[in-house]
Amino acid sequence: MAENKRDYYEVLGVSKTATDDEIKHAYRKLAKKYHPDANPDNKKEAEAKFKEVTEAYEVLSDKQKRQMYDQFGTADPSSFGGAGRPGGSYYSYTGGGFNGFDFGDLGGFGDIFSSMFGGGFGGRSTRNPNAPRQGANIQTNIEITFEESFLGVQKEINLSRNEECTTCHGNGCKPGTSPETCSTCHGTGQVTQTISSFLGQMQTSRTCSSCGGRGKVIKDPCPDCRGKGKIRKNVKITVKIPEGVDEGQTVVLRGQGESGTNGGPQGDLYIVVHIKRHSIYSRKGDHVLCDIPITFTQATLGAELEIPLVDGTKEKYKIPEGTQTGTKFTIRSKGFKNPNGSWRGDFVFTVVVQTPKKLSAEQRNLLMELAKTMNEQPPVKKRGLFG
Ligand SMILES: [Zn+2]
Ligand SMILES: [Zn+2]
Repeated sequence: MAENKRDYYEVLGVSKTATDDEIKHAYRKLAKKYHPDANPDNKKEAEAKFKEVTEAYEVLSDKQKRQMYDQFGTADPSSFGGAGRPGGSYYSYTGGGFNGFDFGDLGGFGDIFSSMFGGGFGGRSTRNPNAPRQGANIQTNIEITFEESFLGVQKEINLSRNEECTTCHGNGCKPGTSPETCSTCHGTGQVTQTISSFLGQMQTSRTCSSCGGRGKVIKDPCPDCRGKGKIRKNVKITVKIPEGVDEGQTVVLRGQGESGTNGGPQGDLYIVVHIKRHSIYSRKGDHVLCDIPITFTQATLGAELEIPLVDGTKEKYKIPEGTQTGTKFTIRSKGFKNPNGSWRGDFVFTVVVQTPKKLSAEQRNLLMELAKTMNEQPPVKKRGLFG
């Protein structure tokens, strides 16, 4: 487990019942206060604080994430382990409608970043090219079995993502050199032009073409990443899928997405869970459904059945005499664990009476005797139509 993190509400200095506006306001204030550029004397400390408030904001500004955070307490969602709790992950319910999900909408994060860094420092209306930016989120899929979704499972997934280049630590320069301020735009990333038109003098600004808007140029690029500061890497990531997860639900691993830029936080990894169909069981809400075949004598006389549960155990269950085919029986709390709470769904089975297809002569006679006692019309005697 990672070290204990401070409570996100505490970090932002807001109450647990704070409104979205209060949270946004608190974050803006703190982010300005702790932004590394505003703290040249103790940059390191400011950066750590900055990351902390950003992390807190990112969770508390997202309705789903905040709800999950409130439910799972102060635990660090990006760490693994922890019994009885989806340690390395938390849910966001997407109701199966994950298609078309726009990562750009996540908590309005990009929005606040651009408005804050754009307008907040130096009164410029353009985006600071060297402001920390969060890495992109990654979405991927995983397929698990019905039993795995029931019991929970730890899986490894292979992923290709951009990571900070370890040779240049992300600045893109050959070790021993550093980026130089662009002489065309003097580090602003923007070039302003004054144009005379029939409307009068107009100022336009465009992205500096010498540095591509970064405000800095790299004379000696890092040989490993060729100046990009990032390297594409194939990584193996362990994900704990909590018990009870349903088709289409998403497990979020915070900080496992693409690496950030200019010291910004890493993006998140969204793992959409798909569950293979099972030959016997199906799921409805938190309940497990299944058909149990019984013989007609069991149905007639009653019987003690052995019901195979999803976790591999068996449960004895007495059905009464005179049970009709299609009758449903419920074994309480043997269904899926609800990921939002400690309760479980039920195991609901439907008995299906199997009519025998082949009878011995003796069985046939016994049944005909039985039928007579029940004042039934005896079945028509076999004529050997089919040989
Ligand atoms: Zn490099
Ligand atoms: Zn430039």
